Amino acid sequence: MIESADVIVIGSGGLGAATAFHIAKRGALRVAMIERLEIGSQTSPRAAGMVSCLRKSDLMIDLIKLAAHKIRRFSDESGQPLDWVHSGSLKVARRPVDVEVIQEDILRGRRHGLDVEELSADAAHRLNPFLQPKGIGAVMRIGDDMYFNPAQLAVGFARAAEANGAVLLPNTAVTRVLIEDGQVAGVDTARGHIATPVIVDAAGAWTRQVAEASGIRIPLVTTAQQLFVTEPVHDARAELPMVRIMDAAVYMRPCDGGFLWGVYEENPKFFDMDGLGANFDVKDLPLDAEILWHYARDVEAQLPILLKAAVREHRGGLPTMTADGQHIVGPSPVVRGFYFASGCNVAGLSIAPALGEMLAAWIIDGAPPIDLAPLSIGRFGNGPWPDDELINKAAWQYRHFYGAR
Ligand SMILES: Cc1cc2nc3c(=O)[nH]c(=O)nc-3n(C[C@H](O)[C@H](O)[C@H](O)COP(=O)(O)OP(=O)(O)OC[C@H]3O[C@@H](n4cnc5c(N)ncnc54)[C@H](O)[C@@H]3O)c2cc1C
Repeated sequence: MIESADVIVIGSGGLGAATAFHIAKRGALRVAMIERLEIGSQTSPRAAGMVSCLRKSDLMIDLIKLAAHKIRRFSDESGQPLDWVHSGSLKVARRPVDVEVIQEDILRGRRHGLDVEELSADAAHRLNPFLQPKGIGAVMRIGDDMYFNPAQLAVGFARAAEANGAVLLPNTAVTRVLIEDGQVAGVDTARGHIATPVIVDAAGAWTRQVAEASGIRIPLVTTAQQLFVTEPVHDARAELPMVRIMDAAVYMRPCDGGFLWGVYEENPKFFDMDGLGANFDVKDLPLDAEILWHYARDVEAQLPILLKAAVREHRGGLPTMTADGQHIVGPSPVVRGFYFASGCNVAGLSIAPALGEMLAAWIIDGAPPIDLAPLSIGRFGNGPWPDDELINKAAWQYRHFYGAR
């Protein structure tokens, strides 16, 4: 165990590991990353690994473009492997109201220099023959989109952080952040105390527990997302564009010779992490295959392969959601030295390379190179944030992730 650090990152998922790496790489501060289980073992490796470049706000488009650039350069920057494929994607509207969204998306995308265009259903089918034209109102092709192997990102950043001098402390739970006179003073862990003036709460599904143990509130809730990976499918080439069906909120991308697919269901479950127990591991999360089959039937006319391909893996994780669907990143306004990197809204892995770089600069230089004010916890006011209201809003954001109205 160490006795002190300049910065302690709590949690070694994509967001924590990216932050630890970027701080360590700058070489200015002694950084330690503390993880209650194995490094990068919880929600991050269970993600789909899709990078979606056409986001709802200008800030998010700027950040995801930076993140996509860093994913392509990941091995050069970190010295660690990362498999990625620049496949592009097809966003599919089946209802007139979603056709309008696609037309607005295209204008926004072009303003940001993204490679976007509207395609006929037949043209989309030619690009990805597993997408059938029946029942499609409009398709947008997003040439910038890509996907990567989610199991490599957090672990890669963590190894690279260590190679740059960071201390990794796996199998060590932070039980409390110590605060003295409104300033972070250290952390208590299951293995002893460590003094530090700065912590980053990147505890994923447990972000609230870590903050609340020290009397700090954060308005986010933990939900679940699950997906299937299929057995190999004839002609399922890795370069086929990913597909998203807007109103059903179903996604599909090539994966290891077959497909990976999942859904943002209508009635997501929310979890009280205390209720799951102190030793809970995401690998033991109960999953419900029937939810996936229900949505496969919904999109059968467009993606019949979902009902036909044999399933080889069923996995899920615990992302966090906020009331407005945006991340919570940056310092707490009430305690000096307390930073958040959370509220992933099921899109935190792909954006992690950019947010990690921003947070490192914020901690070291006093400000991030891109203004992240829209992601500050301060945008929610002082609360109270009743859980039922938060859950209602978070459930809406979850289901409408693809912008369907
Ligand atoms: C099925 C599925 C599909 C997804 N698809 C995508 C996608 O295509 N693209 C995308 O960008 N995102 C996707 N996501 C979301 C993505 O997985 C998350 O946004 C991201 O992994 C969040 O990373 P994290 O670092 O916040 O959480 P985690 O990876 O869970 O890491 C948090 C870590 O903190 C640790 N921790 C908690 N409490 C403590 C404590 N007290 N002390 C020490 N350590 C602690 C935990 O053990 C954990 O390892 C998907 C998620 C799922 C489940």
